[in-house]
Amino acid sequence: MKTMEAIVNESIQQIWTKRPLIISGPCSAETEQQVVETATRLAATGKVDILRAGIWKPRTRPGNFEGVGIKGLAWLLHAKKKTGLPTTVEVATARQAEDALQYDVDVLWIGARTTVNPFSVQEVANALRGVNVPVLIKNPVNPDIELWNGAVERMAKSGITHIGLIHRGFSSYGNTEYRNAPMWQLAIEMKRRYPEMIMINDPSHICGRRDILQGVVQKAIDLDYDGLMIESHIDPDNAWSDAKQQITPEVLLDMLNSIQWRHETADRKEFITALEQLRDQINHLDDELLQLLGQRMRIADKIGEYKKLNNVTILQTNRWNEILARAVAKGENLGLSKEFIMKYFDAVHLESINHQNKIFNS
Ligand code: PEP
Ligand code: MN
Repeated sequence: MKTMEAIVNESIQQIWTKRPLIISGPCSAETEQQVVETATRLAATGKVDILRAGIWKPRTRPGNFEGVGIKGLAWLLHAKKKTGLPTTVEVATARQAEDALQYDVDVLWIGARTTVNPFSVQEVANALRGVNVPVLIKNPVNPDIELWNGAVERMAKSGITHIGLIHRGFSSYGNTEYRNAPMWQLAIEMKRRYPEMIMINDPSHICGRRDILQGVVQKAIDLDYDGLMIESHIDPDNAWSDAKQQITPEVLLDMLNSIQWRHETADRKEFITALEQLRDQINHLDDELLQLLGQRMRIADKIGEYKKLNNVTILQTNRWNEILARAVAKGENLGLSKEFIMKYFDAVHLESINHQNKIFNS
């Protein structure tokens, strides 16, 4: 591997302190023309600090586009020479880290699928010992803050002095609005643990779709994030990966120009943070309630099958009165009004009956 001075170069040090730090570029490098044109148009916005591109793409299912590999590094170097933009790529193995450094990539990033795996993180950290290139660490795919924290520690132990965090959201079962649920409170907790580290928001992978990007960008700015990583493409609809979430460099410029800069008081920032945390708790509880209701209906289905087999009526008044009496008594202890409990159980009961009716008629 090429030896480099263990001091991060001055231009990167300067970029590290710029606010907001903007990283943009395609999800994947596809062709030389696409990489160079994207970079040229991004540079023309005057707002982008670092050019990103995926060279090796970790795909959930085999057969999807897995990245162009090492030849893409030469295209990125070409784009960097033409525009002056420093570059960043995702690395998941020692070999990829070494290849990236050979091609003068300025900043490396650890992807969400790598952060979950301490073996891989350690392998990359070992490869970077004595190199001291800046490393951005994406949150792990699953909402486990200790894995994120562990990756930071592994890099720090290898002597990396410029570590940044990228918040790209967490996969969660059954969430519909976002591709990856933001779970803001986890990023806020990382920021609390590492106040000196830059925290970058990646709305592209949180949203998975263009139409809700701006809202997430604004929230990140309201929460005082240090920067943004946003995927951009010269022809987003025909991108080889993540087509739905990419935007053109010109749309990126509009998006950045539409950010509302609020001069928040510390009080207001704390207020947003607290509100976010509480709303997140509510969302989690609602998700759990829905899961439980689904489970309840599956049990009602089973009961329906027994009733059908044994020729028993669906509605058994005594059993229903018993359920209601139990719920009202329990609910009152929990501060829930009798009126609410009755309404809620009526709705649940009706749904059970509909389920069982379907079974009777099948
Ligand atoms: C990416 O940035 O293109 C990427 C693969 O992201 P993540 O690791 O967040 O899924
Ligand atoms: Mn992507």
